[in-house]
Amino acid sequence: MTGFAPEAFIALALGLALLLRWMFAPRKPRIVAAAPVHWRARLYARVPHAQLVPAQARARYEHCVERFLQEKRFIGCGGLTVDDDMRIAVAGLACLLILRPQAAVFPLVQRILLYPDRFYVPSTEPDEIGLVSDEPVEHLGESWQGDRVILSWADVQASLDGDEVNVVVHEFAHQLDDETPETEGAPPMRDYARWSAVMTREFRRLQRHRRPPVLDPYGAESPGEFFGVVTEAFFQRGPELRQHHPELYDLLRTYYRLDPAAHRLWQVQPQDPAAGPDGR
Ligand SMILES: [Zn+2]
Repeated sequence: MTGFAPEAFIALALGLALLLRWMFAPRKPRIVAAAPVHWRARLYARVPHAQLVPAQARARYEHCVERFLQEKRFIGCGGLTVDDDMRIAVAGLACLLILRPQAAVFPLVQRILLYPDRFYVPSTEPDEIGLVSDEPVEHLGESWQGDRVILSWADVQASLDGDEVNVVVHEFAHQLDDETPETEGAPPMRDYARWSAVMTREFRRLQRHRRPPVLDPYGAESPGEFFGVVTEAFFQRGPELRQHHPELYDLLRTYYRLDPAAHRLWQVQPQDPAAGPDGR
């Protein structure tokens, strides 16, 4: 029989206290890189979405972008050399999602991997009869829980030019979702009642709809993908989302504290009739 000495308990309690103090102590940012020179001017010149940020939120937005640039490590893959404008574009788009005063700067994300274009990964999802194909699947982005985000730079660039797909906000919406593992398809917030009611209703509506006018049918896969897809539509097709899904638009406008439908970021919204569902 093993005895449990009081000293051991004291040591345990002390260890626990130190652990709690470490967990809740304010942290200094983990700086891995300097923000590029003149990053503010380059942000507003190259990321049209930055114009969405109202004057009273600009200081917070810029603070988040600067921290993102300092703390997240960018890695070029598939022969891509990551330059400062790529880092600024990714940071500028991702930080649109965290204008809420208490929001953290994606604390789970440490690395961002950039590929020049869409990339192929082995299929792991079984089909409807349970078979896993050995054919690789084309992806334009991935979000790994609590670790990294992978992006196709060609698709990031396309989103800046007004494409319907916005892989950065889609993948970083997954990261927000991961900050609350007890819920799927919901970012951190105080009151989930309205969110849950509107999102559930709209998710079921997309599942029933054969040809949805605004939302990518890919969002019908799961509540998590639905959150990613509606976030993309909010930023890339704001006026249409407001017209066809006013309640959903208003929910996202309140949460993100932005009103994209009130702005015209591109002269003409490009359409890509060849676009189909993609892994992201
Ligand atoms: Zn996704």
